[in-house]
Amino acid sequence: MKVLVINAGSSSLKYQLIDMDNENVLAKGNCERIGVDGLITHKTGSGVKMQYETPFPTHKEAFMEVVHVLTEGEGKVIDDVKEISAVGHRVLHGSEKYKVSTVITDEVIDDIDSFRDLGPLHNPPQAAAMRACRSVFGPETPMVAVFDTSFHQTMPEKAYMYGTPYEYYEKYHIRKYGFHGTSHRFVSQHYIEMRGIDPKGSKIVVCHLGNGSSITAVRDGACIDTSMGFTPLDGIIMGTRSGAVDPSVVTFLMNKEGLTPDQMSDIMNKKSGFLGISGLSSDARDLVSASHEGHARAKLACDIVRYQIKKYIGSYAAAMGGITALLFTGGIGENSDELRTEVCEGLEFIGIRLDENENRHKTGEDHKISAADASCEVWVIPTNEELAIAKDTVALIG
Ligand code: ADP
Repeated sequence: MKVLVINAGSSSLKYQLIDMDNENVLAKGNCERIGVDGLITHKTGSGVKMQYETPFPTHKEAFMEVVHVLTEGEGKVIDDVKEISAVGHRVLHGSEKYKVSTVITDEVIDDIDSFRDLGPLHNPPQAAAMRACRSVFGPETPMVAVFDTSFHQTMPEKAYMYGTPYEYYEKYHIRKYGFHGTSHRFVSQHYIEMRGIDPKGSKIVVCHLGNGSSITAVRDGACIDTSMGFTPLDGIIMGTRSGAVDPSVVTFLMNKEGLTPDQMSDIMNKKSGFLGISGLSSDARDLVSASHEGHARAKLACDIVRYQIKKYIGSYAAAMGGITALLFTGGIGENSDELRTEVCEGLEFIGIRLDENENRHKTGEDHKISAADASCEVWVIPTNEELAIAKDTVALIG
């Protein structure tokens, strides 16, 4: 069974065609500059790489081009679009309504669109992409929505409520939602299955560290807390996002600098984090090499993020009454042994101790990096959100 996975943004449409019989990626690519002009990058599992310009006035033309490139020319991997059994869509926000992945109907698309206050940059284009997809693939191809927020819907009220007046929760749904749920679920479930452990009694902390980063506490296989909040701005510092700050900083700066809400949001989301602290780059690799060369603010950015991750692990160990496994994933989590060393240093009191040889040994696969006698296992587990979406899609369409 072949499943097409779609990750739509306001001006882009990433896709992956996966053969679920063997989980092989047949082809993947990205349609960019939708609504501007149009550029498609396409790679096949057999190594063909293509890139060309073609107009994408809307997501619909982008879908038509995806069908074209998958079925014709040198990038072809299937004979007919009918070979695609289903389409799985990544969705940023499912509000409180969507606690699990869901087969897409017109009502689901309207709901996703209606959550635009909660996910203004993502939900409207994702709903538009679903409508465009339906018009190109036809109603006989089932579609499934997989929400970044749904894994976190098991958080108890005491973890997701803020200390703001309750009426704003009732009026505007102000609360912690959490994001990267597909990755946190994939990595924690994969660990549980791979190790053959009983989810009951497991106390797992997942550190998803990439351009955007979040940390989740998973007890008995379900999320009980997570670092991102009402939006993906909360938690630890990220590439260009500030992470948590005293909220008074926002009103203070708006007053002092005469900033509008949009300008302030731009500063917190796009000009802060690694970039804002270092003044150099939002890319963790650049910061690590600059800090080795003595760049003080690059080192400061590295120090801040490592300290914050350590504090989250400690607080989640407290919330769960201990920790049985610590899992690193995402571009930084999978690749930066230096970060993992510093984060784990001093956490022996909760059973965390690395085997430094294993930690430095890069495999690109699931890899245990804790010392053999440590009570908490530490693993590097590459995330695979597309495969998780495709698996949900198969499960739901039977
Ligand atoms: P996204 O959140 O966009 O999916 P990724 O998960 O791909 O991002 O992570 C990208 C981040 O991973 C970048 O900051 C990149 O510098 C970082 N990264 C990749 N390799 C390394 C490495 N060897 N050391 C430190 N950081 C790395």
